[in-house]
Amino acid sequence: MDRDFLRHKRRIVIKIGTSTITHMNTENLNLEKLERFARVLTDIRNRDKEVVVVSSGAIGAGRKALGIKGRPSTLSVKQACAAVGQARLMMIYQKLFAEYNQTIAQILITKRIMLNEISRFNAQNTFQELFRMGVIPIVNENDPISTDQIQEENFGDNDTLSANVAELVGADLLILLSDIDGLYTDDPRNNKDAGFISYVKSIDERLEAMAKGADTSLGTGGMTTKIAAARIAAAAGVDMVIANGDKVSNISRILNGDEIGTLFRA
Ligand code: GLU
Repeated sequence: MDRDFLRHKRRIVIKIGTSTITHMNTENLNLEKLERFARVLTDIRNRDKEVVVVSSGAIGAGRKALGIKGRPSTLSVKQACAAVGQARLMMIYQKLFAEYNQTIAQILITKRIMLNEISRFNAQNTFQELFRMGVIPIVNENDPISTDQIQEENFGDNDTLSANVAELVGADLLILLSDIDGLYTDDPRNNKDAGFISYVKSIDERLEAMAKGADTSLGTGGMTTKIAAARIAAAAGVDMVIANGDKVSNISRILNGDEIGTLFRA
């Protein structure tokens, strides 16, 4: 499938997961990667495209700041971690984007905002204004208030959230950066014959079953939530690419029309 059309995408939502922005062994933030991420995104802005980031990592950063070992088991501890960590995360983004004179904004979203007509409208207006001002909004779920995401691990994750955001802002491309190259026919760690799928024309039950088998992610969202995101994106007319976030340069390559990751056509 020729991907040249991706060069013309103008409004792009990029989701970056906890596994991408932290070091696997220590779970500390991967500053070098975040620094490159800020540079690449600013450069996309410099090409006169509009960018929205959906970033996870608040709970992880909060846990580190509070010295909590292992995954917090109670909801209120998770929420407290998110409250501490979100501020930390934004402080780091602020610092890194400031290097390139790029202004950023924080938008925290809950499911209720998405479902309520008035708050949806308000959020849309805010995004429009930020785009006009050349700002990069950084979005996360408002975890200290809304418990959809962190209570049930497969529901209301940032994969789905980013597809909802793409729909809300009328994006024309959604990029999900993951810890895997894209969609495989099976789990590539257990099955060396697992084949890579570079293009998905439409999502059916067979594909969903395949995604379940190939679920490798360590984060909140696995391949199943990514397929759910692709469904939402497709219904909203948004093309979507799942790619490995290990190489930040993948973002620019996707926008250059290179065959990186799995492409889902709307
Ligand atoms: N909102 C959560 C956080 O910032 C992450 C949820 C997810 O990764 O899907 O920690």
